[in-house]
Amino acid sequence: MAIRVLDKDTADKIAAGEVITDPTAVIKELIENSLDAHSTRIDIDVVDGGKKSMTITDNGDGILVDEVYLAFDRHATSKINKLDDLNELTSLGFRGEALSSIAAISKITMKTMSRQENIGSLVKLCGEQRQVQKRSFSRGTSIRVEDLFYNIPARLKHMKKGNDLSKDIIQLVENLALSHPNVSFSLNVDGRHTIRTPGDNNLHNCIFSIFGNEFGNNVIDIKYENKPLLITGYIGKPSYTRNNRKHQYIFINNRFVQDNKIAKAIEEAYENMIMINQHPVFILNISIPPHMLDVNVHPSKTKIKILNESLVLLLIKDGIKKKVRESSSVNISHQIK
Ligand code: ADP
Ligand code: MG
Repeated sequence: MAIRVLDKDTADKIAAGEVITDPTAVIKELIENSLDAHSTRIDIDVVDGGKKSMTITDNGDGILVDEVYLAFDRHATSKINKLDDLNELTSLGFRGEALSSIAAISKITMKTMSRQENIGSLVKLCGEQRQVQKRSFSRGTSIRVEDLFYNIPARLKHMKKGNDLSKDIIQLVENLALSHPNVSFSLNVDGRHTIRTPGDNNLHNCIFSIFGNEFGNNVIDIKYENKPLLITGYIGKPSYTRNNRKHQYIFINNRFVQDNKIAKAIEEAYENMIMINQHPVFILNISIPPHMLDVNVHPSKTKIKILNESLVLLLIKDGIKKKVRESSSVNISHQIK
């Protein structure tokens, strides 16, 4: 076949499909935007695993009337100006690709009003059609995404079932809620409440609201500093275990990661204290200085590369071990009394 340059529409759709691979990716990007906009409350509503619609409503900064169009342009971002800014990045987004990508492959309705203005915008986007009206709303931003991949039939055909997508979405919102206890999250799946966190900046309360009372009462808080590491969060009592690893949450610098080596190091800290084939539960944030992490990891990936990994694993294991032993010796002394 002859070599041709793709037309802009096709090229945009392909690029968008790489950023947005499924409904979870949409929700992750939109929640991260809400967090970047200093929201303290984020409501998420999904229908049919997000295939029919996904609505994310926040009480954050909102977007200025003059800037709403820009927000949907490719590489439009308010978060960095130049490459150097990347070194001091504190926001979750910076590529300016999420909204433009989502807009290229779905139908969008956005309501937004900035803290600085008395009038906001209602934006409707569908393919080449764009409508913007000035309207008044409560402060913040609400984005509804409908019919994801309606114009990419191949993607549409290979989407997971609604139920399976809903499970992925619940998992994602749990991860984001647990790493942001200062924000009140609420998730509705097909009209049913699934998650509702208080947002009172208390991780224990957040754990209670997501996993229930029994779980909340069987975890102990941990704060262990051994430079350069700081481990904080909750670990399950040795007497409270599971036969799977579903309730093991690891965050590095407040970002959810999947890291089997760290999980294994934590499990090893419980050695001889729990039965074989049983696994501890934990929700831990590990603060590691950024220079010890490989920064060249894609922002959407949950894998992370730690430099000097074996030392870090050793420190983690030691820290957790101390805490587990402490907690069980407290228990034993209670029993003796
Ligand atoms: P990025 O997050 O990488 O900057 P996005 O495409 O996700 O790029 O968003 C583009 C811009 O739109 C953001 O930089 C921000 O200024 C604005 N924006 C998006 N979502 C929100 C929101 N929920 N509240 C306030 N501003 C938002
Ligand atoms: Mg973003």
